[in-house]
Amino acid sequence: MENLKLLERMLQTVRQMDVASIEIPDWKCVGCGECCVGEENFVRVFYTEAKRLSEVMGVDVHDIIEPNPQTISGVHLGWILRREDNKCIFFDGGRGRCRIYQNRPIVCRTYPFMLDFEEGRIALRVFECRGLGNRNSTSPHSLKRLLK
Ligand code: SF4
Repeated sequence: MENLKLLERMLQTVRQMDVASIEIPDWKCVGCGECCVGEENFVRVFYTEAKRLSEVMGVDVHDIIEPNPQTISGVHLGWILRREDNKCIFFDGGRGRCRIYQNRPIVCRTYPFMLDFEEGRIALRVFECRGLGNRNSTSPHSLKRLLK
């Protein structure tokens, strides 16, 4: 319940945000695929987006998601895309490409950026990524649209 209230507050704050206030570092995806693999790289998804994706693919939603192994007080933190050998099931290791690129989840579209709530304020978190420092191909408007 507390988490839901926090989420609602975050969404409310993001909706009221001034687009120009988001400062985005230079970044351009270099297609390394490193954000799709790794022991700790869980791809968190909303149930509704996973459901939509499963419908597009014509499979059962539980074939593509599983409960997030991360918990707070024993409660699972939502859902993640299924994984195999520490890789997202949709990552084509041979070609180093996402097999569902056009329909990939929100978190994959916004990585390495994530909005976080710190001391009552929204903060932009930036994760480690080879694309940082490259020519900026993300406008504050498109990022905000995705993060909302
Ligand atoms: S859905 Fe695609 S972009 Fe997202 S982690 Fe899986 S392979 Fe990578």
